Amino acid sequence: MAKYCPVIGLEIHCQLATKTKMFCGCEIEVNTTPNKHVCPVCLGMPGAMPVPNKKAVEYAIRLGLALNCEIDLNAMWTRKNYFYPDLPKGYQITQTGGLPVYDHPICKNGWIEVTLEDGTTKKIGITRIHMEEDAGKLVHDMSPTSSHFDANRCGTPLCEIVTEPDIRSPEEAVLALQKIKQILEYTQVSNANMENGNMRCDGNISLRASEDAPFGTRAEIKNLNSFTNLEKALYAEITLQSLTLDAGKEVEQCTKRFDPNTNKTIVIRSKEDAHDYKYFPEPDMVRLVTDPAFVEEIRRTLPELPDARRKRFITEYGVTEYDAHVLTIDRDISIWYDTAAKQCKAPKTLANWVISELLREVKELEGGLSAIKVTPKQMADLVNLIENNTISGKIAKTVFAEMFETGKDPEAIVEEKGLKQVTDVGAIEAVVREVVAANPAQFEQFKTGTNPKMKGFFVGQVMRKSGGKANPGLVNEILDKLAAE
Ligand SMILES: [Zn+2]
Repeated sequence: MAKYCPVIGLEIHCQLATKTKMFCGCEIEVNTTPNKHVCPVCLGMPGAMPVPNKKAVEYAIRLGLALNCEIDLNAMWTRKNYFYPDLPKGYQITQTGGLPVYDHPICKNGWIEVTLEDGTTKKIGITRIHMEEDAGKLVHDMSPTSSHFDANRCGTPLCEIVTEPDIRSPEEAVLALQKIKQILEYTQVSNANMENGNMRCDGNISLRASEDAPFGTRAEIKNLNSFTNLEKALYAEITLQSLTLDAGKEVEQCTKRFDPNTNKTIVIRSKEDAHDYKYFPEPDMVRLVTDPAFVEEIRRTLPELPDARRKRFITEYGVTEYDAHVLTIDRDISIWYDTAAKQCKAPKTLANWVISELLREVKELEGGLSAIKVTPKQMADLVNLIENNTISGKIAKTVFAEMFETGKDPEAIVEEKGLKQVTDVGAIEAVVREVVAANPAQFEQFKTGTNPKMKGFFVGQVMRKSGGKANPGLVNEILDKLAAE
């Protein structure tokens, strides 16, 4: 399979998180009564005139700026004509159009950066982002067999993000999609939930003999709804195209879908050309003229993006590259940690706790982070209790388990259960002496240095005897003192 070099590009559709539709004032509401939110505009009634949603334009520009794009201040709307049972208008208003004269998407020429497995970074070009409207939905009923039409989704605003064919493996494709999803979440222009269908990805893939050979013929795999399916579909298509080329045949340009059950890509139609859609400038709308001041205002208020936040966590909180990566994958988690770290004496220790304890529990929890009872302040307080030697790290795990269960403050739990660390030297020394007296042979080995593991043995015994409450630092000191006697 390594015989051929894959060339991959992605097309990502995401639903913008506006309250109303792209060209009318109808509300966007999911899982509601069918055909509840419709009007002459989104149903395409004759004479109804579309008016662009300013918020949708703002979101598209925000996304474009976050993806390092140029913004076209004179973008154009075009009409893409096709028949589909869930498209009552018989056309879609979009910003693409085959001919260069019609092709003025709102954003173009951007890039993202992904970190590859070996730690190096790679830039992947963003060709364009254009705005368009979604179609409705068909609901198929099997009893008796019939199909119903729900127009609630008609006219919902979408952005289509198209990457350059810069991607060279299915793994890189997943990294690129992850980065774009992350930026959609950080900028809050879309819920970017692949399971709910408000983000879907098409993968274009072709093979060529070597890195400098011309591009081969590509297949387009539609509607991949998870990272796993994107990766699997691309691998399946690489295998298929490799076999075709090995047999001396030519790959045919086509549109496909992926069946995760059989792990195969299936042809759904031979590739249509742009002229099949009879694009022309949308006659019901003037060009989308954008005030540069509007763009600058959006640029000025752009939120901190994932790469910047990751770097800030490293410099501001002293966490490792790995920690920073894990803590910033999800926007909500990054905010949670950031809030906690600002109130914590040891942000790096806090990072360890969040990654190894909190996130592990969150993964198991239905509802994820939003369902937990522990607040960032409580988590910071717990780490502060370890830092000022009120409790040991071991006891802290017990306290954390209780906090997670009940949402109580760590101080209250420590107080209630009498978990405070014993820092009374006299009390600890008494326990150490007791343990030493019970294990004279082992103590001799420790004292003479014949068995270096013996110190750990004694610390363990003392900790157990004190119910985990002895200060481990003091236990070590006292053991050294006794050995020197
Ligand atoms: Zn409407």
